Amino acid sequence: MRAVPFYCPYCAEQSIEPAGDGPDYYCESCDRRFEVTFKGFGEAATAPAVSSSS
Ligand SMILES: [Zn+2]
Repeated sequence: MRAVPFYCPYCAEQSIEPAGDGPDYYCESCDRRFEVTFKGFGEAATAPAVSSSS
């Protein structure tokens, strides 16, 4: 599953494009680079935290 953002989360413009093969995107409007990562379904509070420290 590939989740694709349609709007820049910083300036809300649609002038974003993938930057590289990873989850990186670049917004031409505000000249920001950011990454979008799919974390899973459901609210964060209901999902068990992924922690393998113990
Ligand atoms: Zn932007």
